[in-house]
Amino acid sequence: MAPKTPGKTDNRLVVLSGRRKSSSLGAVWLVGAGPGDPDLLTVKALNVLRRADVVVHDGLVSEAILAFAPPAARRISVAKRKSRHSYAQSEINRMLVAFAAEGLTVVRLKGGDPFVFGRGGEELKACREAGVPCHVVPGVTAALAAGASAGAPLTHRGIAQAVTFVTGHAAAGGEPNLDWASLARPNQTVVIYMGVSTAVAISGRLIKAGRAASTPALVVENASLPSERRIATTLAGLSKAAAEINGPALLMVGEAMSGAVEADLFASGLPTVSGAAR
Ligand code: SAH
Repeated sequence: MAPKTPGKTDNRLVVLSGRRKSSSLGAVWLVGAGPGDPDLLTVKALNVLRRADVVVHDGLVSEAILAFAPPAARRISVAKRKSRHSYAQSEINRMLVAFAAEGLTVVRLKGGDPFVFGRGGEELKACREAGVPCHVVPGVTAALAAGASAGAPLTHRGIAQAVTFVTGHAAAGGEPNLDWASLARPNQTVVIYMGVSTAVAISGRLIKAGRAASTPALVVENASLPSERRIATTLAGLSKAAAEINGPALLMVGEAMSGAVEADLFASGLPTVSGAAR
């Protein structure tokens, strides 16, 4: 069954039968799409994407990246939506396994890296339990892109001897249960994913646990995309900065963030490798 509109994302509920490609088992590829800029895809991700029969993707993956899949490949968005149907993780797992069982090359395309707050581990486990081959292609996680474009190294000799990626959200919603005492020690960078809505609580916890309120901090929205925005602040100013954010953003705290710049130093005007506009 060919998609009705080749190249378009298919948001309908998925019908899994009738598309058997071969009698052999297909495979699932958990592929990191990087932070947004198509030029930050890995060569391996690009090669796998070009061989996809089905692409099951998140909302954070851009059209420019989806365009690398063959026009006839079926595209299924499993983006979290507020109003319309969104897929439970168990449904996504079942979908991946069922497509591979039909002999298809299934690309599960995720923002950043599949194993950094991407639930890739759950999908890998589902494939293993079903006996479906599953390969993982790492991607550039948002923190790396954010540090790069701000000119703020995540580790820096003398002032940041460690970097920790934490989630700003507990699985059940609300504030995460983190080791605040350890995160409050100086000379380390703490990068908070999914922390915009809990920024007030997080900065309060870190300060209460002993991290200096004047510690440099950086908020980066839409890292690597043309709409990227950076706000350089301090730990005490983190919640005010987060209040200005609309898109996906990271909160980054640590002495090394003092090197961050808000201006776009790197807009070179050079053509991009993928040909995408920047
Ligand atoms: N697997 C992804 C993270 C998914 S969790 C990765 O490795 O990057 C989703 C969170 O990631 C968002 O809430 C936001 O905190 C962060 N994020 C993803 N893309 C981003 C981007 N382009 N700029 C800033 N933050 C981003």
